[in-house]
Amino acid sequence: MRKLLSTLLFIGLSLGIQGQTPKEPVTKPAPQQPVKKKEQPQVYICESRSAYAYHNSLSCHGLQRCSHEIANVTEAKAKELGYRPCKICY
Ligand SMILES: [Zn+2]
Repeated sequence: MRKLLSTLLFIGLSLGIQGQTPKEPVTKPAPQQPVKKKEQPQVYICESRSAYAYHNSLSCHGLQRCSHEIANVTEAKAKELGYRPCKICY
């Protein structure tokens, strides 16, 4: 009988402890999402006079031949500068 009593007491205690710790937070923080702008696709261009293509990937073979600076611009900007899509990575 003593064992049963202590078991009941134990259950009561553990229930009490569980009751004291709410699992869910009372107020959920409002998720702050930045205003989504329609992002322009970014491309890579070689800033060389002989370069004519813009690249989808920095690891493109065509881009690795570039001995000048590599610039990260939007696709629209690359077209504006007279670049054409690379035949290897596009
Ligand atoms: Zn390429």
